[in-house]
Amino acid sequence: MKILVPVKRVIDYNVKPRVKLDGTGVDLANVKMSMNPFDEIAVEEAIRLKEKGVATEIVAVSIGVAKAQETLRTALAMGADRAILVQTDDEVEPLAVAKILKAIVDEEQPDLVILGKQAIDDDSNQTGQMLAALTGRPQGTFANKLEVEGDAATVTREVDGGLETVKLALPAIITTDLRLNEPRYASLPNIMKAKSKPLANKTPADYGVDTAARLQTLKVSEPPKRSAGVKVADVDELVAKLKSMGVAA
Ligand code: AMP
Repeated sequence: MKILVPVKRVIDYNVKPRVKLDGTGVDLANVKMSMNPFDEIAVEEAIRLKEKGVATEIVAVSIGVAKAQETLRTALAMGADRAILVQTDDEVEPLAVAKILKAIVDEEQPDLVILGKQAIDDDSNQTGQMLAALTGRPQGTFANKLEVEGDAATVTREVDGGLETVKLALPAIITTDLRLNEPRYASLPNIMKAKSKPLANKTPADYGVDTAARLQTLKVSEPPKRSAGVKVADVDELVAKLKSMGVAA
């Protein structure tokens, strides 16, 4: 069984984003970039399926600038077998990413594609669903648990108000939620080994996909600053204040 794992290079989740002064976007100059956290979970899940003997090959793919190669090396160090970089300096929107992934799915024929549920930079939560539509494959989104047996995958999904379990016929598309697993750190020997694992260089044109933007960002602004808190002397004063605000009965 082959698993394709798309991994996106995004602003590190520990970094507090700074909005550019002209309000056109987030300032990425000299900012730490890392693998999208949900994609780390996707890589981890693929590796666990390989360790269980369910999967035989894990292919990581990233669409982005040349430095996305570092993100792919991280996936290789965690345990992916080979990688594909689809290099472009354009900011690629989910539809274009999904079209490129569809072309790669046609070429590679993976039994599973495991994506993150969303990229923490654009928060789109669209690519996996679009890929499922473009490929006509069943989708199990927001996976909290994944079990593969024979030609079916059972996915427990995090939905509003609880969990939902669905059974999908393979080949299928899965997107990961936060509680699916805890991704491993790559060990130093594996980081060294990852340097010699195969990494193919491609462009969107190789897959016949035009990455020109369809969406226009009108304005990006900082969230409003939180106003200062108030110190209360004791619980009685706290309860009185909450009551006066209509928060407590
Ligand atoms: P989004 O729909 O942008 O929130 O992204 C959802 C998921 O799609 C991510 O967690 C990745 O698995 C995948 N993805 C999105 N953009 C890219 C990209 N440029 N390269 C590789 N994977 C991507």
